[in-house]
Amino acid sequence: MDSADRVILVTGGAGYIGAHAVKALEAKGFQVIILDNLVYGHRDPVETHLKAKLVVGDISDRSFLDKLFTDNKIDAVMHFAAFAYVGESVTDPAKYYQNNVVGTLTLLDAMRQHGIDNFIFSSTCATYGNPQYIPITEEHPQQPINPYGAGKFAVERILQDYDPAYGLKSVIFRYFNAAGADPDGMFGEDHNPETHLIPLILQAAAGKRPAISVFGDDYETPDGTCIRDYIHVTDLAQAHVLGLEYLLQNRVSQIFNLGNGSGFSVKEVIDTAKQVTGKEIAIEQCPRRAGDPAILIGSSAKAREMLGWAPQYADLTTIVKHAWVWHQVRHFS
Ligand code: UDP
Repeated sequence: MDSADRVILVTGGAGYIGAHAVKALEAKGFQVIILDNLVYGHRDPVETHLKAKLVVGDISDRSFLDKLFTDNKIDAVMHFAAFAYVGESVTDPAKYYQNNVVGTLTLLDAMRQHGIDNFIFSSTCATYGNPQYIPITEEHPQQPINPYGAGKFAVERILQDYDPAYGLKSVIFRYFNAAGADPDGMFGEDHNPETHLIPLILQAAAGKRPAISVFGDDYETPDGTCIRDYIHVTDLAQAHVLGLEYLLQNRVSQIFNLGNGSGFSVKEVIDTAKQVTGKEIAIEQCPRRAGDPAILIGSSAKAREMLGWAPQYADLTTIVKHAWVWHQVRHFS
């Protein structure tokens, strides 16, 4: 079957990673329906730049899902819709388990009833917890240290059980630190509130905040700040298309890490942003943030080998540059 005949439902398709994935799917000829409740997603960029039909609704609304699956013949579901603030998951775990676990169960059970058995799931390196070795491979033990990671881990386990029992096949992607913006300037990171390092640094560079807070400088890393594996959101999106094609062709469930395999410290990211923006960026040294492992770097050898995934924008300067271009369009036009 040609990709043009395949209809993909993308939940959370009006969000940061979801919108990039829809763009990549449409570039490969897939037909896309976006399901988003627009709590955190953005209608404008989707309606301006994508062909996909936007359906506003919630994954937790079973009768709504039943109607959606009755009215549309869906071949696969790509599931991005989730709450994703680690700190908030600690203070309000019920919100996270309700939406990210119970909501996903509702979606999976509606899929089962309507005979849809291909599922692409956004998981996270937060399912690993504190790393026992670096780079982290897919076999690394999973001991999440916050409710966000625990909820994603729970869904991974559900998917593992649903495959033999119900024939529901899945590709699970465990992301490292998604960053950057669409190289054509269509979408970028626009969280409210914003908690992620690169957009906050760029807000400081743009004079929108007085300084960037650096959480901890006493970690066991060369400069004392945390090291993360930043992966361009367009490269993440590309992996989802490859994962979908793999699933449709092979009908075998798989799990893949998605990262660049190289780590940058908070201070290195700030230095890169200074170079890219040409601005001074003030630093406010703060205590460690609870739940932050010192180093998170992922091995994506499996995705490269099995999916032929080859990140195009692995260089941190490019990632920050694209984020900066988008940040300026978004905030200064
Ligand atoms: N970080 C920081 N200041 C900030 C936001 C983040 O120093 O204002 C650090 C954070 O402690 C972590 C890294 O930057 O080591 C990346 O954090 P982010 O929240 O972007 O992603 P996470 O690793 O939590 O998924």
